Amino acid sequence: MNHERSRELYGRALSVLAGGVNSSVRATKPYPFFIERGDGAHVIDADGNRYLDYVMGYGPLLYGHTLPDPVQSAVQAHASAGPMYGAPTEIEVELAEFVSRHVPSVEMLRFVNSGTEATVSAVRLARGHTGRNKIVVMQGGYHGAQESTLVDGDAENPRPSTAGIPQSFAEHTLPIPFNDPEAAERVFEQHGDDIAAVLTEPILGNMGIVMPVDGYHETLRDLCDDHGSLLIFDEVITGFRVGGLQCAQGKFGVTPDLTTFGKIVGGGFPVGAIGGRADLIEHFSPSGDVFQSGTFSGHPVTMAAGLANLEYAAEHDVYEHINSLGEQLRAGLSDLLADHAPEYTVVGTDSMFKVIFTRHGAADRAPACATGCQQAPDCAQFDACPKTGSDVADADTERWERLFWHAMKEQGIFLTANQYESQFISSAHTEADIETTLAAYAEAL
Ligand SMILES: *Cc1c(COP(=O)(O)O)cnc(C)c1O
Repeated sequence: MNHERSRELYGRALSVLAGGVNSSVRATKPYPFFIERGDGAHVIDADGNRYLDYVMGYGPLLYGHTLPDPVQSAVQAHASAGPMYGAPTEIEVELAEFVSRHVPSVEMLRFVNSGTEATVSAVRLARGHTGRNKIVVMQGGYHGAQESTLVDGDAENPRPSTAGIPQSFAEHTLPIPFNDPEAAERVFEQHGDDIAAVLTEPILGNMGIVMPVDGYHETLRDLCDDHGSLLIFDEVITGFRVGGLQCAQGKFGVTPDLTTFGKIVGGGFPVGAIGGRADLIEHFSPSGDVFQSGTFSGHPVTMAAGLANLEYAAEHDVYEHINSLGEQLRAGLSDLLADHAPEYTVVGTDSMFKVIFTRHGAADRAPACATGCQQAPDCAQFDACPKTGSDVADADTERWERLFWHAMKEQGIFLTANQYESQFISSAHTEADIETTLAAYAEAL
């Protein structure tokens, strides 16, 4: 593969963009390939190389790169009517009606412009509603580039995970390990009266893909109820992907107080949203006293893309198709690992997948989680499969990034750039694509 033009573009980018990119994860080594356009499940780079794409914009693209006709026309109609106004439009109401009709916990919403903005506003809302400061988060969870959640360490010693955040901010954040009910109980014993909210992804989707163990979310729900704290599900990645239109909360049957959305709900355009019970969402200004505002919020083109996107999913068997391809791919990967790398773990659900290069899997693979780790207690891998963010971090991440990712890229398969980020199947992928992908994994593993 020739990458001359990408190399040249990266050279220019390094002079005018920090690290040559606008989002850190895009800076693959030694230099990223620059994308010229998408085509169905594929992207074509600046040198004309064609890749089967499982990055899918890091999650927003349900249909791949060729938008279904109704989505295409909705986008074009709203863009050509003048892009935005600073006054309300009908399309915002329609998307809000659609989301509140389908997502169990949502009666009312506020749209914003990114997942980050959604979690920032949800945290402010929870603090405003409860009059408390502390937020419990999961180690290895991701809620965007924001002050309250870029925090490492544990509940006793929280510390900023990046330069630029005061220690005094980090002290209001209590990180605990995912899937550890006792740790959740301890943090509530110690800080219960000060906890405004528990903020968690229903599935860790940015740190491998870690499913909840049985009963974990129910424990969080009970603890929040007992202590007057809010349970916030960050469904920016799982929303309208896992569990279909009811999202992961519907799949797991657990009802959060607040939900944050992003990615798919904007149909490929910048978006975020905070949803929940009306009495909570009404705390946002102007109906309530928690200030929230945005020039671009509820942008008509985004709202139109999001609505057409979700309506298309409601009217076609999109989720059946992508989830069955997901199952096929994860089952195929499990078979491959049995021969090539029995210590590794296939993770994922619905249309999300990844192979975690775990170091300590059992040699004997029981069929319990044959289509991706579901934290089944009767699986032979149960004691070794990743249950927390640190379990994923302990895997062979260097091998993944330095050798494996490149070996896949050279075979024309575009995976997310590190071991932590999920990969996604779109409705543009086919069974033949799955076969091609499995052959490439067999070669690269
Ligand atoms: C992507 C993501 C975010 C951040 O969304 P942005 O639109 O990148 O700001 C927040 N939470 C989760 C779970 C995400 O996957």
